[in-house]
Amino acid sequence: VSFSDLGLIDVLCEACEQLKWKKPTKIQRESIPLALKGRDVIGLAETGSGKTAAFALPILQSLLANPQRYFALVLTPTRELAFQISEQFEALGSSIGVKSVVIVGGMDMMSQSLMLAKKPHIIIATPGRLVDHLENTKGFNLKALKFLVMDEADRILNMDFEQEVDKILKVIPRERRTFLFSATMTKKVQKLQRASLQDPVKVEV
Ligand code: AMP
Repeated sequence: VSFSDLGLIDVLCEACEQLKWKKPTKIQRESIPLALKGRDVIGLAETGSGKTAAFALPILQSLLANPQRYFALVLTPTRELAFQISEQFEALGSSIGVKSVVIVGGMDMMSQSLMLAKKPHIIIATPGRLVDHLENTKGFNLKALKFLVMDEADRILNMDFEQEVDKILKVIPRERRTFLFSATMTKKVQKLQRASLQDPVKVEV
């Protein structure tokens, strides 16, 4: 199975080739075709499985068809993960002009506000700092958001970001697509899943 067999357009297949990715990983094989069909996806997968590209590629394909600012929000538990995800979006999307921004705690609010003001397509954020911007950064809202990704949802919830995630869910459109990735399916993750995904398909690797 090749990237193009999954339904990905040529520019994205070429971006994967450039990264020397010869074929899709299992999570990519199973989730990308469903995501491209418009389904919400729950992916039970660990870091190292290729899960980042499993959500990044369908988002990029949809963005290319409908290039809009504040198109997708990726929530992740830690700064390190946020920067790793951003690197993959840049590697896959920079040749097609995709702009992403990382919004995490421990960094200057003002310079982040300026980056948000440039209206990037993709926001990769830790929940606490994103809520801070939603509450305090003038002109910033997510009313036009098309995709929400919750990456490592079990860790997000274990880090007590539950309230922040609830706040974010309240201010983004109900009409959107949602991908939830988690290494484990805990009670808390199930609850979040019921609150945030519509008729999801589950993919396990
Ligand atoms: P992740 O599980 O998303 O953290 O990805 C783990 C690593 O696998 C990253 O460094 C990716 O660059 C790499 N990767 C993702 N998809 C593929 C693929 N299809 N073939 C080879 N490497 C990949």
